[in-house]
Amino acid sequence: VIKEKHRNNYNLFESSISENFKMMLTMETELRKALKEKQFELHYQPQKNLSSGKVVGLEALIRWNHPEKGYISPGDFIPLAEKTGLIIEIGDWVLYEACRQNKEWQDAGYEPVTVSVNLSAKQFHQRNLVDKVKQVLNKTGLEPHYLDLEITESMAMSNEEDILKTLHDLRDLGVFVSIDDFGTGYSSFKYLSIFPVTKLKIDKMFLNDAQKENKAIVKSIIHMSHSLDMKVIAEGVETVDQLLFLAGVECDEMQGFYFSKPLPPEKLNNFFIEV
Ligand code: C2E
Ligand code: MG
Ligand code: MG
Ligand code: MG
Repeated sequence: VIKEKHRNNYNLFESSISENFKMMLTMETELRKALKEKQFELHYQPQKNLSSGKVVGLEALIRWNHPEKGYISPGDFIPLAEKTGLIIEIGDWVLYEACRQNKEWQDAGYEPVTVSVNLSAKQFHQRNLVDKVKQVLNKTGLEPHYLDLEITESMAMSNEEDILKTLHDLRDLGVFVSIDDFGTGYSSFKYLSIFPVTKLKIDKMFLNDAQKENKAIVKSIIHMSHSLDMKVIAEGVETVDQLLFLAGVECDEMQGFYFSKPLPPEKLNNFFIEV
């Protein structure tokens, strides 16, 4: 009986692996189709400067508008896209579209803001990344200082020399580089001081007021960043208390549902009028 039971468990396990595998294959096919049929969209979340109150930037966040399933969030397909390598093509599209849209807004007469684009590890480690960025800027006519590339700590901390070169080339081009989800990975202070990074984005987990140590951590990150000539933006600001705290500790910028959710381009006009 015991043997029998084990065998069943084993079969169950096997079949769930192949189910997963099938699901992944289906999703890969669908992702390819999505690229071809233009099912991806960028939504934009405003970033506000805390001392001027102005919108100074927009983070581009990808959405998959699936014909049957509706909107699918990036957390549910970016990891697979990264695994299959499709992230390169998707990422190329995101970079181009974000720059094109930002330039379109500027041409329409709105006050210029930066657009932030999330890079995945595979994208960041492409040999021709800097050339690609240069080409996109040329093609769209967007000036480099209106583009901010977001990388994560783990991406910045591996393979020191190559990364340092890429970061310097991007800075020489005039593009900004930010570290996303700061505080959730492993950062070395040594790297932070030598990397030409413009801004740290404090991860939203540190805004959890339930843990009072978080306030001390946020304060320290802000102090350190300012000493290293970096700006700080807080992500995931949801309440007025969080906002007041951040203003009190001289955080430079904020982004979060309290101010605005990510919105499709046609819904952003109101924010520009404020600028
Ligand atoms: P992220 O870059 O850290 O983006 C911030 C995420 O927090 C977004 O989720 C945003 O909608 C969400 N958020 C913003 N304000 C708040 C808030 O006040 N409270 C809470 N709880 N959440 C808030 P989203 O759009 O689902 O994106 C998730 C992640 O997917 C992003 O995290 C980023 O790592 C990745 N991602 C998004 N777009 C792209 C892309 O075009 N390329 C790549 N490679 N990754 C992307
Ligand atoms: Mg981001
Ligand atoms: Mg983040
Ligand atoms: Mg994140």
